[in-house]
Amino acid sequence: MKNVVILGSTGSIGVNSLQVMGNLKGRFTPCALFANKNWKALSAQIKKFRPAVAGLMEEECCARLKAQIGSTRTEIVCGPDAVKSVIAQRETDIVLSAISGSAGLPASICAVEHGKRLALANKESIVMAGGLLMKKAQEHNAEIIPVDSEHSAIFQCLHAGNGSEVRRIILTASGGPFLKTPKRDFAGIKPAQALRHPTWSMGPKITVDSATLMNKALEMIEAHYLFGLDAEKIKVVIHPQSVVHSMVEYIDGSVMAQMSMPDMKLPVQYALTYPERVKGLGRELDFAGVSALTFEEPDTDKFVSIRLAYGAIRQGGLACVVLNAGNEAAVNLFLTGKITFDRIFTLVEKVLSGFKKTKMPNDLTGELGQIMYADAWARKEILKCLY
Ligand code: NDP
Repeated sequence: MKNVVILGSTGSIGVNSLQVMGNLKGRFTPCALFANKNWKALSAQIKKFRPAVAGLMEEECCARLKAQIGSTRTEIVCGPDAVKSVIAQRETDIVLSAISGSAGLPASICAVEHGKRLALANKESIVMAGGLLMKKAQEHNAEIIPVDSEHSAIFQCLHAGNGSEVRRIILTASGGPFLKTPKRDFAGIKPAQALRHPTWSMGPKITVDSATLMNKALEMIEAHYLFGLDAEKIKVVIHPQSVVHSMVEYIDGSVMAQMSMPDMKLPVQYALTYPERVKGLGRELDFAGVSALTFEEPDTDKFVSIRLAYGAIRQGGLACVVLNAGNEAAVNLFLTGKITFDRIFTLVEKVLSGFKKTKMPNDLTGELGQIMYADAWARKEILKCLY
């Protein structure tokens, strides 16, 4: 039996993960569940899954959770240090990180430093600190197995050859809800429209990222670190049906694709059971029902995110940190009605070009110090652009 700590258990991936584990009883147990504030949802999960530990990030929410569940065998803990101490326990085998945004970084670092398998949905942590995480994973013999469907697909297709035989990888993108919307209409897009994704049901931040194709930009950076590929070897194609989850092209011209119905339970399960495959909850791929699979070039004038990601990868790690933090701050502003949809692109582009001219202070401690500085710098710059 493997003990799995789920971070972000109340979110879209967290809920999928619990369903996967419910189906794999006897092999995996959700030994600890963590969320941010949602005590109601966590309380229901505690009653159903009876983890040894559960926790939230805020004291007040923890108090409400304790009052709600009454006496239980589940220990209720609070705050990021509690997360780290559960990850560090010898009994913890797998950390499934499904936290949204850069808040996931400390737990990702902690998991690899303790040599755990990190089943990683939280792409922001690898975008921010991919170099550091990969280095630490190697030092501590930790595995990072992608949960993101595109990276899970590439991870699976890479089993068909050697790294040196890879010509390029092809990340597929659904194109989001505004694939056919003219750029001139972007300013009028409301949060409710951006939150309606055509093929995937996900949390709010990644749904907006999918609408701007910034999700694909983050995934390009994620692939760069996870698979050690230069920008030139990473290509994006629009594939609205979301059936081909990504592809690897080898130097002989063979292209390996991983296909399935769009359902996050499959990559979640594979990240838990790898290298084994077991029967899952997903539906069979209905080829006749799918009928057509189409592919097209992304319009990088309309969706500049792709172009920004190529630039950030070529520029180096801290530019990726700035892209990620700038985007996270801009998406928050959009979702709270403070900026229009089109300004997500212009603000991220502005903050990235401003960073090229910025001198880093000399007193930062190590790589993580630089990452945290660049992250905070980008967020401040985004706010400054408002006034
Ligand atoms: P959701 O918004 O649905 O869920 C986020 C989860 O993280 C919630 O449980 C939330 O708790 C928790 N959380 C938020 N902030 C913190 C924090 N500071 N500390 C601890 N927990 C926190 O997001 P998704 O499930 O959609 O996405 C999660 C991650 O997975 C993202 O990085 C996303 O990019 C990635 N991903 C998601 C996919 C999807 O299909 N959804 C596909 C591929 C990748 P609470 O409920 O209390 O707010």
